[in-house]
This record gives sequence, C-alpha cells and structure tokens, in this order.
Amino acid sequence: MTQKQLRKLVERYRVTAGSHFRLKDHDPADRGGGLVNHDESATLLADGVQRLAALQEKLYPQDQWAMLCAFQAMDAAGKDGTIKHVMSGVNPQGVEVTSFKQPGPEELAHDFLWRISRRLPQRGKIGVFNRSHYEEVLVVRVHPELLARQHLPPALNGRKVWQHRLKDIASFERYLSRQGFVILKFFLNISRAEQKRRFLARLDTPDKNWKFSAADIAERGHWDDYMAAYQDAIAATATEHAPWYVVPADHKWFAHLVVVEAMVAALEDLDLHVPEVTDKMRAELAAARVKLEAEDG
Ligand code: ATP
Ligand code: MG
Repeated sequence: MTQKQLRKLVERYRVTAGSHFRLKDHDPADRGGGLVNHDESATLLADGVQRLAALQEKLYPQDQWAMLCAFQAMDAAGKDGTIKHVMSGVNPQGVEVTSFKQPGPEELAHDFLWRISRRLPQRGKIGVFNRSHYEEVLVVRVHPELLARQHLPPALNGRKVWQHRLKDIASFERYLSRQGFVILKFFLNISRAEQKRRFLARLDTPDKNWKFSAADIAERGHWDDYMAAYQDAIAATATEHAPWYVVPADHKWFAHLVVVEAMVAALEDLDLHVPEVTDKMRAELAAARVKLEAEDG
C-alpha cells in the first residue's frame, strides 16, 4: 500500500456530518477491508511518524495554527499506546499531552470547560488530550451521580442537560476553529470481545498486571449505555472543522496507522511553511556575522 492509498483509506473513518452517523455501521475489527497487511504496517507507520515530525517543525515557527487531538475510548482500547507510537518522532517541546481524570474539587467548582481551556495548546503546538471534554457527555451521562457533584443550579440541571452540553461543546469547537485550532477527535473503537481479551491478558501477564483496574470491569457492565452516549456525542459534534475519526481499534497496528495519517493529512491541508526571511532580517543576519567575526578568539 502506498501512502497515497492510505490517505484515501483513512477518509473512510472520518465523520463530518453527524446527522447521518451510525456507530453500528463501524466495524471495530476492520483493517481497511484487507487492503493493508500487518507486515507492511511498521514501515508505513515509521513513514507517517516521520512526516508528522517534519510538519510539526513547520507548525512551530509559523506560530499561527494550533492542533488539538482528543482521544476517547473504552478502557483498554489503546489510547496510551496510540499516543506513544504516533507522537514518538515529534519534538517533545512541540507537544503537550494532558490526561483528564476524574475532576477534583477545584475543577468541580468551575464550569466544565474550565479545565479544558487551561490545557489548550498555544499556537504552533500540538495538544493531545487523553480523554477530554467529551467525558462530560459520556461517563457523566452514564453515571448521573457524577453530574450531581457539579454544583449546577437545579433549574439548569433538567432533562435537556445532555442536549445542551453537546451544543455547548459544538459551539466551543466552532469558536476554537475560528481561532486557528485544527481539531481532530479520535474514537478508538474496540469491540466488547476484544476488550475482554485485553483485560484477560492484563490478568494473565505479570508485566501487565499493573494496568488492571477493578473499576474498568464495572464500566464494562455499562457497555451499551456508553455506546449510546458515543453515538449521540459523535452525531452532535462531527463537523468539517472538528471531525471525528471512528478508528477501528481491535487491531492496534491498524489504529496507529489511521491516527497518524489523519494527523498528517490535517497538517498538510494547512500549507505550512517556515516564515520567509525579509530584507531587514537579512541585513541583521549580515550585521551579526560581522560582529561575530570581529571577536578575538
Ligand atoms: P489508564 O487506565 O490507561 O491509566 P485512563 O484514562 O483510563 O487511563 P484512569 O485514571 O484509569 O485513566 O481513569 C480516569 C477516569 O476519570 C476515567 O474513568 C474517566 O471516565 C474519568 N473521568 C475523566 N473525565 C471525567 C469527568 N469530566 N467527569 C467524571 N469522570 C471523568
Ligand atoms: Mg483506566
């Protein structure tokens, strides 16, 4: 498979028109319809990682756009591994990774986007969110007792709260896109059966025991509620300026390829370039050379 073919393939997983979206139509075990071999995946990934790194080297000096990549998934879908592999070539100074956990007292004392805004990348950087503002319409929706902790006035906490939150998220992302954020949202879509396999591997393999959490097993019990919440969240917030990628994630190597290519494609669309040297700057450079060369030693 060539890079061009991979680019085309990745478009299959991009969702930009929420109204037609049906999560059920997305197969977690898909490997591009068999178009990509596992054997060639390492080479393709290395190539993607390299191109991403080169693009980031232009994003930073241009200092105009910022990229925001949000990762959402059920437990054991491979968020951590995907972030590790895909970002492995990029200059660490150009990336900010944030993992959003259960909000603490200070966070709960603020509006739900407060902690998100504080972690947005500055221009020239790539912000990676390991979980994100979407938790507010996923885990919080599945567990309404979490909403009860958010100090909302009862009048604003009624039946329409999820619909309102989804609209607020969509508006927030619209605003960010108008501010120069390139927004990509990745849902690493694993099947329930694959999650079971991975949990069992965590129990069976001593090196993986640390990853096991009893809470993850409990969340698994709410699988259908989570899928319904993902369906609604993606349908309400997938747009051209902030697309979702529903990434088949039962095969980790395939998920990594899709994510890196989606990021590369989004940055290539920007036509990034290192700022041009003006005549004034050229004169300054020449003056600096004269000064340096005049020094003794
Ligand atoms: P890993 O298990 O690989 O370290 P993780 O993202 O699952 O990664 P955990 O510390 O296990 O990290 O879990 C974080 C928990 O915080 C998740 O259960 C998530 O649903 C929860 N969480 C994140 N954001 C919110 C939120 N806004 N409100 C309530 N819970 C949240
Ligand atoms: Mg966890």
